[in-house]
Amino acid sequence: MIESTHRPSQVIIDLSAIEYNVKQELSRLNKEQSLFAVVKANAYGHGAVEVAKVCEKAGATGFCVSNLDEALELRQAGLNLPILVLSYVSPNYIDVAISQTISLTAPSLEWLKEAENYLTQTALTNPLSIHLKIDTGMGRIGLRDETDIALAKELIVLSTRLKLDGMFTHFSCADTKDTSYFELQQQRFTRAMDIFSDIEIPYIHTSNSATALWHDAWCSNVIRLGDALYGLNPSGKTLELPYELKSALSLTTELIHVKQVSAGEKIGYGATYTTEKDEWIGTLPIGYADGLIRKFQGYHVIIDGQYAEIVGRVCMDQCMIRLSKRYAVGTPVTIFGKNGELENTLDDAAEFIGTINYEIICGLTDRLPRYYLNERINN
Ligand SMILES: *Cc1c(COP(=O)(O)O)cnc(C)c1O
Repeated sequence: MIESTHRPSQVIIDLSAIEYNVKQELSRLNKEQSLFAVVKANAYGHGAVEVAKVCEKAGATGFCVSNLDEALELRQAGLNLPILVLSYVSPNYIDVAISQTISLTAPSLEWLKEAENYLTQTALTNPLSIHLKIDTGMGRIGLRDETDIALAKELIVLSTRLKLDGMFTHFSCADTKDTSYFELQQQRFTRAMDIFSDIEIPYIHTSNSATALWHDAWCSNVIRLGDALYGLNPSGKTLELPYELKSALSLTTELIHVKQVSAGEKIGYGATYTTEKDEWIGTLPIGYADGLIRKFQGYHVIIDGQYAEIVGRVCMDQCMIRLSKRYAVGTPVTIFGKNGELENTLDDAAEFIGTINYEIICGLTDRLPRYYLNERINN
């Protein structure tokens, strides 16, 4: 899908908010701890290259992405800091990773064997940098079994081609009030670390945003900061933030059509909304193909510092709102973000449709152009 720039719907990203959030977190870390910015999924919809640049300026010392292509995008943009791919990469692409100095996650003993095998069969001279993933209870990727972990250690120690740069795990419940599952995962990671106690590993990391915010980045000399980087609360509304974050993203558009509709008329597909009296109805050039999904029917946008309800079903490219009076075509409308005294936070929006802030920002599609405020930070 191409970016639609001849249309007023746009994602606006305030780079100074991201800079602020990185610096806030850095100020809480000790001297031995550093910060890798998690910029996977196009930096949670914010634009990977722009975000990576501002994070580097603010003091991040590396990046995490989810797949090899995301890592290559950063390298092609001239970013030279360490990059770790957090998810599985086929050993068939190890040559690409080595040539671009990208670190890969070792997600299983099988993978390590395949990687070693691949490396012995090629003439590559540089070693492959790996971070060993321990599955302590997330149940996604990583080594679970202590016997496997011990065998992985043996394989890595004997290998001249695999360079163990990191060991890490991922917590599934760092953002909940009940910490018992978090503690179980801590115990398992401690046991895995004991197996490696006689080996120097440069990076030990356990901390996503939630672990960094609410568990003092337990056992980490580098943290993997994602959601908080963008100014969002990884727990949604469950836990209070320990310090202020600034939300970086807004979604805005403009009225493209305004009309008065008499009482008892229907609006939208399925005729699900009926006007109660003579009503002013505005049309917005944004719909579910942009990520404003149909569940947002009944939610409110903000126009002229006042709420306006989304009435009728959200269409693919447009949706309708009920206005308090006649507004001119071209009047700005805020979908997420501040307008006058009001703000539609991503957590309010997420709560309305029954999801988390992450899913909303990642769901904003490529059709929406991204515009940057305070771009001077990157220039
Ligand atoms: C996405 C991801 C993160 C970042 O998580 P946030 O909650 O956004 O901070 C960290 N580590 C891993 C392994 C991830 O997949």
